[in-house]
Amino acid sequence: MTDNAPVQPTPLTLLGTGAMGTALGRAWLAAGHPLTVWNRTPARTGALAAEGATVAATAADAVAANRLVVACLLDDASVGEALEDAGLTGRDLVNLTTGTPAEGRSRAAWAKARGARFLDGGIMAVPPMIGAPQSGAYVLYSGSAALFEEHRETLTVPAGTTYVGADPGFAALHDVALLSGMYGMFAGVTHAFALIRREDIPPKDFAPLLVSWLHAMAPMAHTAAEQLESGDFTRNVTSNLAMQVAGSTTLLRTAEEQGISPELLTPFLALMRRRLSEGHGDEDTAGLVDLLAPGEN
Ligand code: NDP
Repeated sequence: MTDNAPVQPTPLTLLGTGAMGTALGRAWLAAGHPLTVWNRTPARTGALAAEGATVAATAADAVAANRLVVACLLDDASVGEALEDAGLTGRDLVNLTTGTPAEGRSRAAWAKARGARFLDGGIMAVPPMIGAPQSGAYVLYSGSAALFEEHRETLTVPAGTTYVGADPGFAALHDVALLSGMYGMFAGVTHAFALIRREDIPPKDFAPLLVSWLHAMAPMAHTAAEQLESGDFTRNVTSNLAMQVAGSTTLLRTAEEQGISPELLTPFLALMRRRLSEGHGDEDTAGLVDLLAPGEN
């Protein structure tokens, strides 16, 4: 082969052609990767077969077809079930099935015992964002760095890649931590819309204000990170806890005036009051992390 010989796209196997699996498969096919697919319900492989994928009759056949095997199934148990009879020796298994950190770690040990290298992935995207370079879609990866490096180019086809460490539980942990942050935001947005709902305030007029406010507040995570790393929650505090707790009574009284339940707010406000009562009024809200996950010092 000369230095100028074109590099052939790596052939790979995809287990699972649900909504996400189909989006992933479509991106690999569009980029010219020979693709073998398997799905428990064979009819769901139709779309990818029409676009050029080879359909394997069993998961074991699909695994035998290629060294690189990507699983995108419902949950961790379905990965174990699907791969029960597959020969994994010498295979590179990339698991894009959502799971917990412990599931990632035990699946890595399970794969290693069967002779495979293992990389776990957490997809930070919905199917329409896959294969669309400008969408911001990416996948968090953890586990075998060697596998990641070797297949990085192929893995980058459907979405961006972010490797977060050799611990195979870290992709899931990062994924869930990001989703948990998102649900906090969803809770705030839900409460905010409830507050205005019965007034003559069109939600469409309110939404831009809400979006730009959340956007302006989001960088507080950088300050919180600096405080957590230094262990000093009083560093660079803009609005201290004592002031915030005093102000929060306005939030509760307004919810009462508007006749809406404060149930989304109260757990967080209760933590703020607890931290204050323990003598930490000069801190930022990052100090609340200490109540949930006490530090070692
Ligand atoms: P779907 O429900 O569309 O597909 C689920 C897939 O899992 C199907 O291929 C299904 O096969 C298969 N499956 C379920 N149970 C078993 C089993 N016991 N043995 C073998 N195969 C099984 O889900 P998605 O494609 O949307 O999701 C796949 C993964 O991607 C999930 O882990 C999800 O959390 C993750 N993900 C999805 C996102 C999304 O927005 N859709 C976003 C980020 C991550 P069958 O067709 O036979 O039922």
